Amino acid sequence: MMWGMGLFNSNPRLATVHGRALLCLVCGGREFWSREVKLNSTGAELLGLGWANQSALALICDSCGYVHQFAGKGPDMWRRDQGYPAGVEVN
Ligand SMILES: [Zn+2]
Repeated sequence: MMWGMGLFNSNPRLATVHGRALLCLVCGGREFWSREVKLNSTGAELLGLGWANQSALALICDSCGYVHQFAGKGPDMWRRDQGYPAGVEVN
């Protein structure tokens, strides 16, 4: 996990979920900005996510800006200059 690096987190990153590369749902981009967002408690309950009421992780596509949101255990982030770790499926 690369969270909490603050000053060093100023570039978009590659993301994986359960060992698979995350590609933007809209444009297929592979680089994302990460941002923690607070889940609206009412909305969370409507979605059956009352157990995850603290926060979610938003990954914003560097290419098109589409926001992917994750509740609970989020994706892992990787430096783009180092690439994906070994074993990651990139489709
Ligand atoms: Zn995109």
